[in-house]
Amino acid sequence: MHILRNLVQMTCQRDHLRLEVSVLSTFLQLPHTTQVRALELTKLEHQTWVRPRTWHEAGQLTSSELEFVQDPQIFPLEELPHLQACIEQRLSQIQHSPQPDEHVIWLPVWMHEQAHVCIEVTQSQPFAENSLDVITGIFNVYQNYQSLLDYSERDALTGLLNRKTFDEHLLRFASSVQASNAGYMPWLAVIDIDHFKMVNDRFGHLFGDEVLILVANLLRSSFGQQHRIFRFGGEEFVVLMPPMSKDTARVALEKFRTMVASNDFPQVGYVTVSVGFAGAKLCSPVEILGQADQALYYAKEHGRNQVCHFETLQLEGLLRRQVSHDDIELF
Ligand code: GH3
Ligand code: MG
Ligand code: MG
Repeated sequence: MHILRNLVQMTCQRDHLRLEVSVLSTFLQLPHTTQVRALELTKLEHQTWVRPRTWHEAGQLTSSELEFVQDPQIFPLEELPHLQACIEQRLSQIQHSPQPDEHVIWLPVWMHEQAHVCIEVTQSQPFAENSLDVITGIFNVYQNYQSLLDYSERDALTGLLNRKTFDEHLLRFASSVQASNAGYMPWLAVIDIDHFKMVNDRFGHLFGDEVLILVANLLRSSFGQQHRIFRFGGEEFVVLMPPMSKDTARVALEKFRTMVASNDFPQVGYVTVSVGFAGAKLCSPVEILGQADQALYYAKEHGRNQVCHFETLQLEGLLRRQVSHDDIELF
């Protein structure tokens, strides 16, 4: 009954992270469980890295996603050879007992042939058959539910997050502003493809779609796991950047802008983007979006293919009045 109650609670969650915390807490309540973790798997230049994302510590589940642990412990997958074999062979689970009283099972979350997350459960006694059945059963419910959530949160064309999930992500980012790190804050960037209508008009919608997919891929490769990338509307994207200095944020955005500008898109050729960004402080999503949008509007008005920062434009008195770029409907 305990497990059933946990399953019900698990499937009440409408958010990946809460779902993750919920499944881990379910595993934690199984007898002999000593540790549970969600491990993030990231491929970077032919090597896969492991970053613990959620774990059990001092009697509670801690998540680096919620608290922005400054220096998340990252290690190469090779350090867990059993898990590495499991991933390489695309197995649904693997076990290993490093100590007589330490028994670990890894359950990668497979989605579209990829495993970006793996659940790890450690118990003090070997896994009995019925306990394995329970673990596998709970995990399967979790995995199915995870993929349903994923489907409803992502844009079908590019696979990026859709705007439905934006408010929640923004709130999480904005509340991570740290008083100790003066000048460091999360950033919100609005990215809009320049003259995209012309691409459609000249080459047709299919090639237009192809450009959108390729720009989404460039976004994914430019901004790491700590960023959140959304497709907001037709040819508009939003990136939430974790706490960093304004200059670091600008450099990253400039790098992305030049990467797009120098990319030779099949058939279409060269395409540029304009970018506006603003600090993601604790005010309403509408307000922050409006500011990034004003900077974007300025970039569009002043030659496109450039990155503009809201607060800088404001300080220099370059924003005469409140404008609203009509591509973004404020909500
Ligand atoms: P600007 O530089 O000022 O942003 O000009 P623009 O042409 O990019 O902007 P505008 O808003 O006039 O046009 C956006 C176009 O994007 C119009 C619409 O047909 C196209 N679009 C919107 N969604 C999609 C989509 O999913 N696929 C394709 N191929 N085109 C789309
Ligand atoms: Mg455009
Ligand atoms: Mg637009």
